[in-house]
Amino acid sequence: MFEKILIANRGEIALRVIRAAREMGIKSVAVHSTADADAMHVRMADESVCIGPASSTQSYLNKAAIISACEITGAQAVHPGYGFLSENAAFAQALEDHGITFIGPSAEHIRIMGDKITAKETAKELGIPVVPGSDGGVPDYETAQGVAEGIGYPVIIKATAGGGGRGMKVAKNAAELEVAFRTARSEAKAAFGNDEVYIEKYLQKPRHIEIQVFGDGKGKAVHLGERDCSLQRRHQKVFEEAPGPAITPKMRAEIGAICANAVAKINYIGAGTIEFLYEDGKFYFIEMNTRLQVEHPVTEAIFGVDLVREQIRVAAGLPMSFAQEELEINGHAIEVRINAERLPNFAPCPGKVRVFHAPGGLGVRMDSALYGGYSIPPYYDSLIGKLIVHGRDRPEALARLKRALGELIIDGIDTSVPLFHMLLAEPEIQNGDYNIHWLEKWLAAQFAE
Ligand code: ADP
Repeated sequence: MFEKILIANRGEIALRVIRAAREMGIKSVAVHSTADADAMHVRMADESVCIGPASSTQSYLNKAAIISACEITGAQAVHPGYGFLSENAAFAQALEDHGITFIGPSAEHIRIMGDKITAKETAKELGIPVVPGSDGGVPDYETAQGVAEGIGYPVIIKATAGGGGRGMKVAKNAAELEVAFRTARSEAKAAFGNDEVYIEKYLQKPRHIEIQVFGDGKGKAVHLGERDCSLQRRHQKVFEEAPGPAITPKMRAEIGAICANAVAKINYIGAGTIEFLYEDGKFYFIEMNTRLQVEHPVTEAIFGVDLVREQIRVAAGLPMSFAQEELEINGHAIEVRINAERLPNFAPCPGKVRVFHAPGGLGVRMDSALYGGYSIPPYYDSLIGKLIVHGRDRPEALARLKRALGELIIDGIDTSVPLFHMLLAEPEIQNGDYNIHWLEKWLAAQFAE
């Protein structure tokens, strides 16, 4: 086992990894920008290294500085968290070249899944159902017309290099196709430096269902059921739950087995998430994330496993500590993402937190790097905490969420907490009756002038 690992991240996810490491008797090294000298992850780690100025391109994305920090501190492995360098194949490769273990999948697997067209082709070959669409990239408008006629409108045009919900355009009919196609391409070029796009059937009322998989890198893999992350704003998740209210045990077993077999076949190592849109009893692959997800705690809650611990174990060459037969769902879990932002426009509002009080009690977990007196820097993601609740069933989890949100105090800045109080009062949320468009429509109705 490693004696010391470095966490190439900040905020709540850096704390998450430090905690797992500490329970395993592993020393932790935090890295930070000059803007994060007072951050909680720096205080909580055993050691810390400043790797650059506030701008993340010069600090949290600075591969050379992170590798130097490993060499200075003697860290044998790097956990990338999510975001930043977590899905950067060149970083995984560079670490390997320096004899440092990347706590995550191989550079090759990151590369395959990072390109959406290759990912979709690979998924198809591995027996995973995909959204009907173009075979690969669509080079020009004439080809786009043919593809769209073939699969039928509406269609969605997506950037091959896309991510974070950017670079997607919907065409409801033939008249809208040309503008949508050209805008998608130019936006993709501007955002990702790559104008390749592909086309898919646009599903009208799907749910976003993702399957958690885990592999040992030696041909063994398991699945840990699904998470329903359909409540999204601008394609960004805000509320996630497990198990999915619309998924039966039979469906879970079927799609779970398909996913576990697929990743076993490629000797996948560590945690991964296979994302699907789900409509009328059918699953359609959209992408695979080769890292730990923000919403992993809901899966941890219902299965009683520590996914970060498992990631560290398999990266060190140890076997997984559970087999598929031992993984049983216990109750229901919900996570809400708390952002430093102001309703109704969701404008980011970093600033000084005067008082922070985290909720507690049975079945409540608060993952946050906040503390009273902390100044949230304006340079990074607006996620400041995740509140996760676990109950014996969905109604109990919902009641617990309401109770816990009532105890939470974040004083001094605006947050997305009022949004969740409002959502919990909605019958559709209480009944689990929502799809990926529900939240946007509801927000438009709530905040219409
Ligand atoms: P990103 O990598 O940018 O997050 P995804 O391919 O994962 O992009 O898609 C993000 C979200 O966009 C999905 O969760 C869903 O809300 C919407 N979406 C993507 N593909 C489709 C589709 N074919 N039909 C309808 N909605 C889609």
